[in-house]
Parts: sequence; C-alpha cells; structure tokens
Amino acid sequence: MAVLKIAPIGEPILRRPARRVERDELASADTQRFIDDLIETMRHAKGAGLAATQVYDERRICVMEVGENPRYPYKPPIPLTVLVNPTVTAITEERFQNFEGCLSVPDLRGVVPRAVGVRVDAWDREGAPIEREVWGLSAGTFQHEVDHLDGVLFVDRVEDTTTLCTWDAFERHHRAPFVERVEALVARFGS
Ligand code: ZN
Repeated sequence: MAVLKIAPIGEPILRRPARRVERDELASADTQRFIDDLIETMRHAKGAGLAATQVYDERRICVMEVGENPRYPYKPPIPLTVLVNPTVTAITEERFQNFEGCLSVPDLRGVVPRAVGVRVDAWDREGAPIEREVWGLSAGTFQHEVDHLDGVLFVDRVEDTTTLCTWDAFERHHRAPFVERVEALVARFGS
C-alpha cells in the first residue's frame, strides 16, 4: 500500500466530476489496490474521508472512516465505508450548520448548510449495492465526500463567508458553540 499525494485547492482535478467505474474495472487488481491506497492515505492524513479526485484520480470512489479522530474529536463514529459510483440525495428540507474542513483546503474551516438526512446509493468495493439513509452529523460527511466526486469543494457551499477561519481560530473562538450544536444533533439522530 502507498500514501498518495493530496491535491490542494486550485488543482484542476478537484473541479472535474469523477467518472463512473464499471464492474470489471472495479474488480481489477489496479482498482482494488487504489482503494487500499485511498484508505491508507485517509488514515495517514487523519481525514474523516477522502475522494479519488483529491489524490489526482478520476474514478468515482470515496472512502470514509471516523474513529477517535484528533481533527474531529466530536464526530460520532463511522465504520470504514467505501463508496463506488455514489449519489447522495437529500430526504429532508431541514438543514444544519456544519463546520467543515478539508484535506485539500489546508488550514481553513467554514460553516456549510447540509441536509440532516440523505439517501445514499452506491456500490461497495465488491460491487454489491449500498442503499441506506444517513442522518445527523454523519450525513454532512457523506455530502462533503460525494461533493468532491462532483467537482465541488466545501468552500463553494459556504453561505456566510465571515465564518471562514483557520483551525487555530476555530479552536479559540468557534469550537465550543459548534460542539454544543453538534451534540444536540447527535443526540437526536445518534449519528
Ligand atoms: Zn474534502
């Protein structure tokens, strides 16, 4: 396995929609190795998720995992999840204000409105269908990762640009009220 280079904002690959992966391509040794590398790179960078476009690859694949994460200690756990050809559809009108960061946007965070509930359709790494609903803070993580595969970065969705801040300023000024809001959300949905 290998730790891959992460594309920073400004790299054109981050703005191109990823391309669909067909079944035989998914089953290939190359794509299976790539998925392993994507997981290893996410873990190495301590990200909550990583999309192929973020490592200069155009396959429509992303991975997510939240355990004990020092970047996001308030996040409820997400078991290791591999999504191939994912789509995410909002199933609620209700939005919550998520404070997001991104491995491709170094040292910047900002508030992004996200649907509190989404339907996720994808394949797993074996090509088996995934059809599930995701709620709460975890729904924000899924929306962020699938956005990457559509060429969208969280900064595009920041409505109030006065919320943009460095990670240090987040810790000093914004973390406490955000965690309070998040705890209420997590208590409601358990995720
Ligand atoms: Zn990101």
